[in-house]
Amino acid sequence: MPVFNSRSFRDHEQVVFCSDRVTGLKAIIAVHSTALGPATGGTRFWDYGAIYKSVPVDVAESRAEEDAVYDVLRLSRGMSYKNAMAGLRLGGGKSVIIGAPKTLGTDDLMRAFGRNVNRLGGNYYAAEDVGTSPAMLAAASEATEYVCGLEGGEFGTGDPSPHTALGVFVGIKAAVRHRLNKTDLKGIRVAIQGLGHVGQYLARHLLDAGADLIVTDIVEDNINAVKAMGDVTVVKPEGIHAVDCDVFAPCALGGGLNRKTIPEIKATVIAGAANNQLEREGVEDEDLRRRGALYAPDYVINAGGIISVESEVYKERLDEDARRAKVLRIGDTLSRIFEASDRQERPTGIIANEMAEDIIRSAGEAKLAATPAAAE
Ligand code: NAD
Repeated sequence: MPVFNSRSFRDHEQVVFCSDRVTGLKAIIAVHSTALGPATGGTRFWDYGAIYKSVPVDVAESRAEEDAVYDVLRLSRGMSYKNAMAGLRLGGGKSVIIGAPKTLGTDDLMRAFGRNVNRLGGNYYAAEDVGTSPAMLAAASEATEYVCGLEGGEFGTGDPSPHTALGVFVGIKAAVRHRLNKTDLKGIRVAIQGLGHVGQYLARHLLDAGADLIVTDIVEDNINAVKAMGDVTVVKPEGIHAVDCDVFAPCALGGGLNRKTIPEIKATVIAGAANNQLEREGVEDEDLRRRGALYAPDYVINAGGIISVESEVYKERLDEDARRAKVLRIGDTLSRIFEASDRQERPTGIIANEMAEDIIRSAGEAKLAATPAAAE
């Protein structure tokens, strides 16, 4: 499996493979960049082998490991870009634990994982992600101080979802202003796909701002929670991307913007919380641009959560107003991306990547210049 020359490895500072025979831990920690600060990003616990059950065990194992390496590299670079564009003093990193969290995810395994995080001496901070819970991270934190997003404690920032939703809300406002030339959301029709943690907070903001909502989820209780907030139209999950609306807000899973869905999208703004919305960077966002639809790059618009976590890494006390003020800046950042995209006639996703790479490169050069030669 080529690593150093692969597109996803590009520019990684350090990738660490970790194992623990007693607990069965198999993990990979990827540090993409520490130019802006400690590499910070979630710990994904995922059974990468589950889709290879029908092939021989050794083949399945090697494919699962390849997928895990690809995933951790892609995600850690994404965290560098997200943190850079949010103006944070955080670099980008991510970790994956290979296996099924339900059967393998014991406190002992999480402590073993924590010991490995600790060996990186603060170069990487772990946080919650798919397959890990606050309780699992609390177990890891018994072995290391380099864990964030914890509930309680002196600097714990707790659930990031309200801040993520606020960032998506101001991002939608910026996109509507740019594409539809409207400074408020009164009567703007927004289709929300996924009414989980973020989707529900977002629905509240949008209803308060006078938007008309079309919503869906695969969980009835989540739909009912939003129906209780006000007058909303509920549609089936399969059709949400194709409804007649102004804004499509993907807030469920990634990969929702693809060859099949894009020709069916009627919205002129696509702005939601889901990570990795584009199936292929630079392809779907270009398709959307050509169709006259404005795509708000996912890692820029959904950075509210990580913005709220930064203070925890630095052990700072930040009051709610200061935290909100940082999240509200997401609107300005998006406006700059939209303007550059119009000027250069290039997709917003590529523009955002280039802006992020510039920020990281400049910070890296400044850090190197400030480092005495002997310390390099
Ligand atoms: P969540 O799991 O609480 O909510 C996701 C919702 O989507 C659930 O209600 C689920 O039932 C629904 N869903 C799943 N498949 C669906 C489908 N096919 N159609 C319609 N609904 C479907 O997750 P969340 O924390 O609200 O996060 C939502 C998205 O935003 C995720 O992609 C997440 O990675 C991303 N994100 C979240 C945060 C955060 O602070 N929570 C931060 C950054 C990015």
